[in-house]
Amino acid sequence: MVYAFFFSHWVLSVFFQSLFHHRYGAHRMYTMGPRTERVLHFLTYLVQGASYLNPRGYAILHREHHAFSDTEKDPHSPHYFRNAFRMMLDTKHRYDDYSYDRKQPEARFLGGYPEWKLVDRTLGQSWVMRLVWVGLYTAFYVAFATAWWQFLLLPIHFLMGPVHGAIVNWCGHKYGYQNFDNGDKSRNTLPFDVLCMGELFQNNHHKWGMSPNFAARRWELDPTWQVMKVLAWLKVIHIATPQRAVWPEPHTEPTVARAA
Ligand SMILES: [Zn+2]
Ligand SMILES: [Zn+2]
Repeated sequence: MVYAFFFSHWVLSVFFQSLFHHRYGAHRMYTMGPRTERVLHFLTYLVQGASYLNPRGYAILHREHHAFSDTEKDPHSPHYFRNAFRMMLDTKHRYDDYSYDRKQPEARFLGGYPEWKLVDRTLGQSWVMRLVWVGLYTAFYVAFATAWWQFLLLPIHFLMGPVHGAIVNWCGHKYGYQNFDNGDKSRNTLPFDVLCMGELFQNNHHKWGMSPNFAARRWELDPTWQVMKVLAWLKVIHIATPQRAVWPEPHTEPTVARAA
């Protein structure tokens, strides 16, 4: 039971981060009606709970990441930090600056992301609500855990969003293979990215920043894109950008996988 909960929370949390924060909020790869947007926005909050990310803060930071990928101005390049923990701590400070309106980014990074004061500020940034979520996760473990060490999984539930951010930003620019020479260090960590629902196709995504499908080769699989195709077929969302399931042959030959 505990494993099923952990697995569901992991997959759903990274799925909604990819679908809502990343592909919709930051990139606008698809559109939907205002009511559908609200439903998706609220579902994202329910799933991410204690570690819910403010879509505005996420979008600004992520757009900076694309604009400055693996340079000194990149908010979270693994090549400028000693370890993933330091990188995420630094990312958190920048994210808070934008999420709490303490700092203004360049104007080109502003706008186009969903904003909902009730969810993003009142609930999402409330420490009382974060503690309520922490209490709920803990209560589940108290009720269903069968061994003491299962409680060691709890901190991952509390910090699920940042944990995914750390894995994607660290591994996706450090480990794996490259299909394209993007002039940065982005990589595809897994050919079937079931771990982070497609987010680990960083090399493909930095090449085709607006493609809703993060897989670029026939043998690559992006799970979030598979779900998006179903949502588009059901007319819940409308894919705004070219939906090439398999891109035409890449402009550059794939480079041989190299160790970081
Ligand atoms: Zn992106
Ligand atoms: Zn990246």
